[in-house]
Amino acid sequence: MFFHLYTEKARRVIFFARYEASQFGSPYIETEHILLGLLREDKAITNRILRARFSVESIRRQVEDRTLIREKISTSVDLPVSNECKRVLGYAAEEAERMRQQHIGTEHLLLGRLREKDCFAAQLLNSKGVFLDATRDQLAPQIDKGVKPAEAEVGEQGVVEIHGEMWDQDYIETQVGALGRFVWRRRDWEPDDILVEEATGRISFDLANPNESGFRIVKGGWLRDLCQVCEWELNATGGLEHSIGYTNGRDWVCVECYEKFLKKNAPRSEL
Ligand SMILES: [Zn+2]
Repeated sequence: MFFHLYTEKARRVIFFARYEASQFGSPYIETEHILLGLLREDKAITNRILRARFSVESIRRQVEDRTLIREKISTSVDLPVSNECKRVLGYAAEEAERMRQQHIGTEHLLLGRLREKDCFAAQLLNSKGVFLDATRDQLAPQIDKGVKPAEAEVGEQGVVEIHGEMWDQDYIETQVGALGRFVWRRRDWEPDDILVEEATGRISFDLANPNESGFRIVKGGWLRDLCQVCEWELNATGGLEHSIGYTNGRDWVCVECYEKFLKKNAPRSEL
């Protein structure tokens, strides 16, 4: 794959797609994982093309319903893309060319997926009334004007910005609502120790029996957590924005989400 031709956003879609595939325990990155990656990464395109029709959560559930959930695969394993997926990426490149764009962006990935008519992601999109020709028309005018779709949505109602990305406000409010019952404390993010099952590579955070046979302890082996609201990555190596967060001792939220959404619920004594 020619990732140097991809925009930063499109690369992140592929990164998230790989993450989704590993979460589903899929041996390949499939088209539906790219769809989920796109939903995660590009809220503006999601909102503009897809919002009226269905929520991110409903799509995720449909993918889950269809997927045989296997054991999660370590995100460090480099999963190959399925053949169907390769065609989608090829179509995305063609769409970029057709629009005379130098880089392959998220909008081209969306169109590429719609061109692979028989894939699950395209069926999902079609079932919600999202079709190739209309979507091309919707995306084209902004691309012609040189406005990136991602920037076109700023200021629209029902949308909130986190780390420069647009998110659906209802979705964020639902996420935040569930987190209000926890006490959040500012902490440096540090890697957790994990137990790794020798034979399978599967991971456990339960260190109650660290010498259990067949397992080895890996100090600092867990290298990232994701913000519970916006999925911003917390890690020890990505600089300040990534290395400080708020935690309830189990889950993490990023500083921006804490300050925007959770701080107002905290008692005065904590501020
Ligand atoms: Zn966040």
